[in-house]
Amino acid sequence: MKNKCWKKISNQDYKLMKWVFRRMFTLVLVMLVVMLMLFGLIVAIVMEDNPVTTDVIEPHTWLTAAAAVLSLLIISQFVALLWINRITKPAAQISKVVGQVARGQFDVRIDCSDFKNEMLDLGNNLNKMIEELNSIELMRSDFVSNVSHEFRAPLSTISGYVTLLSSPNTTEEKKNEYFELLRESTRQLSSLVDNVLKLSRLQSQNILPKKSTYSLDEQLRRAVLMFEKDWSEKELELDLDMPECEYCGNEEMLSQVWTNLIGNAVKFSHQGGKIGVKLDDSDPDYITVAISDTGEGMSEDVQRHIFEKFYQGDSSRKSEGNGLGLALVKGICQLTDSSISVESAPEKGSTFTVKLKR
Ligand code: ADP
Repeated sequence: MKNKCWKKISNQDYKLMKWVFRRMFTLVLVMLVVMLMLFGLIVAIVMEDNPVTTDVIEPHTWLTAAAAVLSLLIISQFVALLWINRITKPAAQISKVVGQVARGQFDVRIDCSDFKNEMLDLGNNLNKMIEELNSIELMRSDFVSNVSHEFRAPLSTISGYVTLLSSPNTTEEKKNEYFELLRESTRQLSSLVDNVLKLSRLQSQNILPKKSTYSLDEQLRRAVLMFEKDWSEKELELDLDMPECEYCGNEEMLSQVWTNLIGNAVKFSHQGGKIGVKLDDSDPDYITVAISDTGEGMSEDVQRHIFEKFYQGDSSRKSEGNGLGLALVKGICQLTDSSISVESAPEKGSTFTVKLKR
């Protein structure tokens, strides 16, 4: 609806502009001719009254003047046409391309080779805007296809187990096993929906998140405790170095950062490994939180992609996550003026370092 209205106004504007330019140009030329005629008339009257010059004025002077005015008018219309076409050609081209973009065609560009000055700036800026819209559109369609793909796996698993459960030949023992797998698939699905929602909320957020002062060390401790069951099962050694530290920031968002990073550290640790959480507030500008593990680690190639949506380094562990955790962490860091970096090597473990701006 919005697009339609905009396109209509743009075409009308262009036609109106052309009409106004042509009328203005003609008006200026007519005024010029009228002024010239008046000037000529005054000169003629002065010369006619002057006995010395009376003989100089020929009787066909008025006829010649009228012919000159007529030819000037014709020439002015011709020049106006040429001039208007020249200055409205870029506007016509821009209007055409903008109309195509409004219809959702983002592979078009304005040819600015003949443009000059402000029109050249306008054309270049519009081309940049179309490029930006194109990349947003590509990201959006990529995201939609990824989401649909990720939803398909748990949904087809659920459908498969429901079929097996409804079979009269399924034993009670098998039924319990299928129920457990069904529960796991629905948990996966719900975590996927949860992360997709969080990510889309984060992307549409253009105002800075609400801040409050709270205890950062306490928040980190709570995040570590959330995974108690998992690190106890894996018998992980905890190395926690978290001095008391007050921080002013968005508590909910940062809690998401710590749970994702600590959750990954536990998930990618081997049995009997070690995870560390270190808080350093000695820098006057930043508070640094480093979350490390001695687990699987990552190759450089994997490290390059970990912050991309739906990326998972190890496809055999697909069911353990959805590849959105680090994309969310990165998004939150960008929104809160913080930074995140990673150091890792295969089978040597990983360290994620978050720098929070004070
Ligand atoms: P998920 O954990 O759901 O797969 P994430 O976005 O949290 O998704 O992480 C993306 C990928 O980054 C993981 O699949 C894994 O390959 C890699 N990764 C993240 N954290 C670690 C870690 N601590 N150790 C090893 N690899 C990691």
